[in-house]
Parts: sequence; C-alpha cells; structure tokens
Amino acid sequence: MTDPVWLPFAVPDHSEDEVDELVATLRSGWTTTGPRAVQFEKDFSAYTGANYSLAVNSCTAGLHVALAACGLGPGDEVITTPMTFCSSVNVIIQTGATPVLADIGADLNIDPKAIARAITPRTRAILPVHVAGLPCDMEAIWLLAANHNLKVIEDAAHAAGSYYADGEAVGKGKSDAVAFSFYATKNLSTGEGGMVTTGSAELEDRMRILLLHGISRDAWKRYSEKASWYYEVVECGFKYNMSDLTAAIGIHQLRRLNGMNARRAEIATRYTAAFASLDEVEVAPGYQHAGHSWHLYVLRLNLDRLTIDRARFFEEMRDRGIGCSVHFIPIPLHPYYQRTLTMHDPCTRALAEYPRLLSLPLYSKMSDESVERVIEAVQEIVAQYRCDAD
Ligand SMILES: *Cc1c(COP(=O)(O)O)cnc(C)c1O
Repeated sequence: MTDPVWLPFAVPDHSEDEVDELVATLRSGWTTTGPRAVQFEKDFSAYTGANYSLAVNSCTAGLHVALAACGLGPGDEVITTPMTFCSSVNVIIQTGATPVLADIGADLNIDPKAIARAITPRTRAILPVHVAGLPCDMEAIWLLAANHNLKVIEDAAHAAGSYYADGEAVGKGKSDAVAFSFYATKNLSTGEGGMVTTGSAELEDRMRILLLHGISRDAWKRYSEKASWYYEVVECGFKYNMSDLTAAIGIHQLRRLNGMNARRAEIATRYTAAFASLDEVEVAPGYQHAGHSWHLYVLRLNLDRLTIDRARFFEEMRDRGIGCSVHFIPIPLHPYYQRTLTMHDPCTRALAEYPRLLSLPLYSKMSDESVERVIEAVQEIVAQYRCDAD
C-alpha cells in the first residue's frame, strides 16, 4: 500500500502577476519602502474604506505600534482574549502594560460580558481578536469602550476581507486601530507582512513616526530642501516598515482577495453541509455570516461521543495524509504567562473548548477532490470511533 499524497494544512496562493511585479521591483533598483508600499497603502484604504493604512512588516508590529501610539504603558491594563496567538498578548507586555484575559463566548471570540467584568479603573484598552475571520461582537465592544473611555485595537490577523455587522469592512470601524497579518498562511499573504488602519489623523501621524525609528517625516520634509541627508529623531521608535518587495506581492494579493475568500467560503460551506448531520462533531460557527473571511475552519469534536481524543483524531487525519492544526492553545496554558500573568478570569470556556478544537485544511488553492478527501477522512474516523461503534 502506498502512502496517500500529503495534503498540507495551508498553502499560499500566488499568481504570475505577483511574480512579475516582484521581478520588476528588483529590476527597478528600489527595494525598501517606496512607491509600491505607498501604492499598497492607498489600495488597502480604498478596499477597506479606512482613512489611513500603514504598511508594516507583520501584524505583531502593527499591534505593537498601535498600542505604543495610543500611549499605553506601565500601570495600564489591556483586556484581550485567552483564545489567540501569543503575539496579541506579547505586544501588550512589550509596551509595559498588563494583559488582562477575558473569556470567550460560544463563537470562540472574546465575550463582551467577560470584558465588562474585567474592567477596572486601570483599564485603558481592549484588544479583540476576530478568531478564524468571524468578526467579534464589535457593537457591544465599541459601546463598552465609549462608556469607559477605552481605546480599541483590533487583531484582524484572520480578518482581511471580513466585515462587521453593519456591512463596513473590518479596518473601517469605530476602533482606534486595526492590524492585519500577511503571514504565509493568512488569507492575503506576502510571506511576512502586515497593515494597520486607523480613522484618526493624529494616530496615523504617531504610528508613522514610531514605525520607522521615531524619525519625523515633517522635519525631514522641512529640511530636505536644504540638505537631503537631514532628519530628526523625535521618539524612540521601531523598525517596522514594509519593503517594496513585500508590497509588490501585496498589491496583487489585495486585488485577488475577494476571489480567494469566495473560494474559502465555498469550501467552508461544503464542510458544514457534510458535517452538520454528525452528532460527533460541531460545525464551525457563523457559516451563514456574510462577513466571515473563513481564514480557518475550526471543527469541534464532541468528545463525549467519541472513544478517541483530539490528539488521536489529529493522528488519524495525518495517517490519511491530511495536515490539520489547532487554534489556539489558550494563553493560560503557556509556561511564560503562567509564570507572569495574574489570571482574574479563570477562562473556563477557553480551557473547555481547547481539547475539542481541530482546524481543517482550508485555502483558496484547495481542489474539490482535496475537500472531499478531508470530508471522507472525518466521516471515516467518526464512524470508526463513535461511542456506539462496535
Ligand atoms: C498570525 C497571527 C498574528 C501574528 O501575525 P504576524 O503577521 O505573523 O505578526 C497575530 N494574531 C493572530 C490571531 C494570528 O493568527
């Protein structure tokens, strides 16, 4: 018996336009931040409807520069979710502020009621994460923020092409800043990269300065007429700018984003249709939600109806040649946060959901045959290991 052809968990979707633009950028002689980064920012603002877009070298960088530009620091508390990638929490710690976890709801996104319980006189900001690309209940979060005078910085790493309940694109809302990831597995991918949007001219200005060493553009403009080498450092900034090589890919990825997301939605719909009748699993939430970018398809195992655990389910998928993943190992389970964070909220739901989570392959380049292979594998494993199976 031969091994089945390996079906990876994620594969980026690049076109010849991107290859050509990348080569043209190399040949142009301008590879660092320049005309293509400017173009990508302009295009991203047009796509989302945001007033300002700032190209950065990762979502992590975008979140960090946004928190720093909001003036967060020691003594401040920032409320975020336990069900996220570590960088959402690390950037808070890196500003000197304290992350405060608030538990998730049934859709795996941060629960506004848990946020309300976590607010103290030191709370300065909320950092919600749109898990899998399904937008959080932003109306409730914006209301809390308005009532308590809090900043909102969205982690939209999964949510390029998602939109809020009111139909506006994620990136153009009432939040102070929204950070996107263009990491290799994300819906819009440049290998590494990110974008941060804001509606505020003041925040745009501060982020612009902070993301490139703290160098003031205005001073540069003022003096460059006299001396092209002159600049002024007005803050202790970071090195978070996006290169034109990255932007060359991004410009074309953005043009293809809606098409790629439509394919993701098609696959998600197929998964949900196939799994809805199985009592042993729970389908991903929000499959009818128009604003879902379907970055991930998170299947939840009903473990009390199965004789195997998630680790074994994962291995059974792997043995059938199918790559899966888990999103996420909750923040309270990592040793660093156990050592350093005080958990006021026990995050009961996040910890209870974690053992049941299994992310299935979902990407625009997946063929119908591959989608059917995943469905058959899940059906087969469920049939073999359901509690009443003999
Ligand atoms: C991928 C991811 C990030 C980090 O994105 P980078 O561009 O790699 O910095 C942050 N938050 C979440 C939820 C992610 O999935």
